[in-house]
Amino acid sequence: AADAALAQDTGPGATADGHAVALLANIGTAADAQRVGAGAEGVGLFRTEVLFLERTQAPTVDEQTDAYAAALRAVDGRKVVVRTLDAGADKPLAFATQPDEENPALGVRGYRLVRSHAELLDTQLAALARAQEATGSTPWVMAPMIATPDEARDFAARARAAGVATVGVMVEVPAAALRARDLLAEVDFVSIGTNDLAQYTMATDRLRGELADLLDVWQPAVLDLVATTARAGLEAGKPVGVCGESAADPLMALVLVGLGVTSLSMAAGALPAVRYAVRHHTRATCEAIAGAVLRARTAADARAAALALVDPDV
Ligand code: PEP
Ligand code: MG
Repeated sequence: AADAALAQDTGPGATADGHAVALLANIGTAADAQRVGAGAEGVGLFRTEVLFLERTQAPTVDEQTDAYAAALRAVDGRKVVVRTLDAGADKPLAFATQPDEENPALGVRGYRLVRSHAELLDTQLAALARAQEATGSTPWVMAPMIATPDEARDFAARARAAGVATVGVMVEVPAAALRARDLLAEVDFVSIGTNDLAQYTMATDRLRGELADLLDVWQPAVLDLVATTARAGLEAGKPVGVCGESAADPLMALVLVGLGVTSLSMAAGALPAVRYAVRHHTRATCEAIAGAVLRARTAADARAAALALVDPDV
């Protein structure tokens, strides 16, 4: 019965008592946007670097405009959060990145590329503004790998000058999570990238499979930073999303809702199970789950504490 309910239910995300939680899809291309389907309320993370990789020159403003407009049209009036280029020595670009960084994860990646290649960001923002005009949609835009409120302010100024009104930043660096309140004073929303936030909090390369026990969003230190960020959003009255892989775990999704996260963005295939879990718990139950999880001392204890409180049918 649960399977049939899962397949049919494409309504908006909400807890059992009607508290809205937007359920969104992650995409990397306009073609992905075509496949998003009715089960997503929109796109919570458009990873635009796919447009830039494996090329000798940056895509032109026209090429980018076409790609962004195609994605906006494909999801037809639904929300789309476009992330600006997240490149670096781990995702190298022939025309921009320094190939010789010893610690690429800590180097000139994400928003930091603006220091040497501001034209890449400004071209991208100009293309997004043109796509907005061409389609009549109003995409949100956010920058990856923000570490300070100054970076958030500079990014917001560039985006607004280009004509994109709703501006946010990703929280992927512990410094950003700890000072989420200061970031939120500069921007309209934040989105937590739990893949990188776990990597940087636990000092664990996200590509090293043998360290998966450390690279775990259930680690209490990671959860504390997610909680700090969510609280800052509640206090500021601004949206806090999660767009890392953790949003696709139905049990973690309940924790995130309980912490005050307002949207969850994930691989489209994960949406039905997450929707089902959220629909079958009240906001108060999610808050109780989150509270129990925050009291745990280990990742295993945190997961067990959440499991002990969920509806056994979920
Ligand atoms: C993240 O870091 O959680 C994230 C969503 O961004 P990416 O996986 O593209 O680094
Ligand atoms: Mg990231």
